[in-house]
Amino acid sequence: MSNDLPLEGGCLCGAIRYRLNARPLDAGYCHCRLCQRSAGAPVLAWATIPIDDFVCTGEPGRYRSSSWGLRLFCRDCGTQIGYREVENAKTMDINIVTLDDPEQIVPEYHIWTHSQLDWFDVRDDLPRHEDSGPDQ
Ligand SMILES: [Zn+2]
Ligand SMILES: [Zn+2]
Repeated sequence: MSNDLPLEGGCLCGAIRYRLNARPLDAGYCHCRLCQRSAGAPVLAWATIPIDDFVCTGEPGRYRSSSWGLRLFCRDCGTQIGYREVENAKTMDINIVTLDDPEQIVPEYHIWTHSQLDWFDVRDDLPRHEDSGPDQ
């Protein structure tokens, strides 16, 4: 992992590109059902950054996946780019795997392990939280 900024990323088709002008505040795996269903994947890996340090080109679609949260995605290819709270968001969660170099940010914990799938075996020693953990 290097400290070179900005970090850049985007969706599968390239219609959405973004730049992160700050290193993340933290990063972790989310096993919640909303992440699972919205991505069609057993888990999502998120990095939390100050919202002002997220610069996006293109017009991501927005899906309100709960009363409190919005998910940003590419309308063309469907890649889920980010997550933010609806009201007064100070941070934004970036889908780490959409970075051009996803090795740049390493997840540090698991949250919502309450809904971790039994067949999805993650053998690491990272802290595990049944609920939102450090992502309050
Ligand atoms: Zn796309
Ligand atoms: Zn989640």
